[in-house]
Amino acid sequence: MPSQPKPRLNLRIVLLTFALFSAAVTLANTFWVMFKIQKRELIENALEGNRAYAARIAAAVEGVLSSDLDRLEYGSAIVSKNFSDRQLLAVEARRLLEQDNSFNSVLITNADGTIVASAPERLQLNGQSLQSREPLERRKPLVSNAFHSITGNLVVFVSQPVFDANGQYLGLVGGALRLEQQNTLQALMDLNRRQNGAYVYLVDSQRRVLYHPDPQQIGRLIDHDRIVDAALSQANGSLQAVDRDGNEMLAGYAGIPSSRWGIVSQQPMAVVQETLSVTALKVAKGIVPLGLLGLLLIWWSGSRISNPLSRLADSAGRLDVPESYERISAIPVDYLESWQLRRALLLSVSLLQEKIGRLNHQAQSDPLTGLANRRAMQDALTVWLESKKTIAVISVDIDHFKRVNDTFGHDVGDETLRSVAGLMKQNSRPSDLLCRVGGEEFVLLLPDSSIAAAVDIAERLRLSIASTALEAVGHITVSLGVALWRAGDSMDDVFQKADQLLYRAKQQGRNQVVAEQESSATGPAS
Ligand code: GH3
Ligand code: MG
Ligand code: MG
Repeated sequence: MPSQPKPRLNLRIVLLTFALFSAAVTLANTFWVMFKIQKRELIENALEGNRAYAARIAAAVEGVLSSDLDRLEYGSAIVSKNFSDRQLLAVEARRLLEQDNSFNSVLITNADGTIVASAPERLQLNGQSLQSREPLERRKPLVSNAFHSITGNLVVFVSQPVFDANGQYLGLVGGALRLEQQNTLQALMDLNRRQNGAYVYLVDSQRRVLYHPDPQQIGRLIDHDRIVDAALSQANGSLQAVDRDGNEMLAGYAGIPSSRWGIVSQQPMAVVQETLSVTALKVAKGIVPLGLLGLLLIWWSGSRISNPLSRLADSAGRLDVPESYERISAIPVDYLESWQLRRALLLSVSLLQEKIGRLNHQAQSDPLTGLANRRAMQDALTVWLESKKTIAVISVDIDHFKRVNDTFGHDVGDETLRSVAGLMKQNSRPSDLLCRVGGEEFVLLLPDSSIAAAVDIAERLRLSIASTALEAVGHITVSLGVALWRAGDSMDDVFQKADQLLYRAKQQGRNQVVAEQESSATGPAS
């Protein structure tokens, strides 16, 4: 298998990174789409609002102008009856002025344009010539563009021609609206001041500003402005355009047909941007806690998904450890793949442990009898010497075994060894370790046992062997030596002592147990 470098990323990091990245992209996308939709809606609303507003104001201005024309028409009818009566003309001029606040001044001229009556009288306009020749020439009801009056004020002039009963042109009756001063037009516009940075202005057909919430702008000429162009086209609509001052505007426009003036209602785009920013901030504030909760959820579920896999992967590297099976079994598996992996790992562990067990057994057991060998005994002692208080050692040797071999052959001898081993197993506890340490020599290690208990077992074993008739061989006997290891003793000394006691048993006639003196025993009685 080609060796590849060990990857640095683990499943948890990959999963979390991927999940967090997806969540962030989704969130950003949602936010962006929402922002876009909101912006378009705000713009459309602003455009439509301004369009409707411009139309409404245009209609209102149209109304004011036509009622001014109506009043002047009425005045014209009155003065036409006796145009030469200066007194009558003066009275009518005053009446028209004082009727309401429509006009800042009212004047009546003859056909040459010479003012023959005026109000208020303090202006002393009588005898002077009308500045604008247009109404005299056109001899029709007229609303003029802005111009500078005799007194130097910027005005618009609304006028009606005066004809006598024979249709002879006598002159005109007109009212001037001073653009910088309060009058009905101003009052109407002021009443309709707008909010949210939106405002309305009025231009005449020569692009001169007649009304503007900023008084500085009144009288100014606005050329090169698409919005003004649109308003003066007398259409009603809306437009997103940059105004003459370079500001991006959302504008609505409408025309005033009687005067050819135009109304513009507009709002800086910056206001929409500001509203958007505020909305975005609010949305962000709303999203943050939820987003954090989402992240927490992603983190939690990512951990839940990766945890069993990480643990399984970790365990997969240590299948030979004895407690692997239990450890892998304890890993919770909530979904199919982890369950399949765990099952596969458990199977591997079983197979591996079985194989290891077989190898261990082969390495640690005596092939003839299946008892432990010297190596297994040494391994057990290494552990026991640390943890046990006493270990009883019983040395066992078959009596006159040579004879068995000599009489019945080596195979029967082997069979006899197996039978003795079987009897040993029957006469010992599961915790005892039974070893074959030589040809027909055995050692029994009894952990946490007293001399007395060990002697009991030795005696029981001796009797059991002596009383059992073995196939072909018949009865055989064994001699046993029993010694006790206590914490601190040398194990070699204890083995030697057990051998010596066994030797003594042989000398004393065999088929017997010889134990060390119990008085010297300090281990626990059992
Ligand atoms: P004693 O009562 O003094 O022990 O007499 P003994 O004949 O048993 O003498 P000893 O213990 O010295 O003899 C051991 C004999 O065991 C020698 C050998 O023939 C026999 N033996 C050793 N290993 C094996 C084995 O693996 N199989 C068989 N069949 N015999 C073995
Ligand atoms: Mg021997
Ligand atoms: Mg022997």
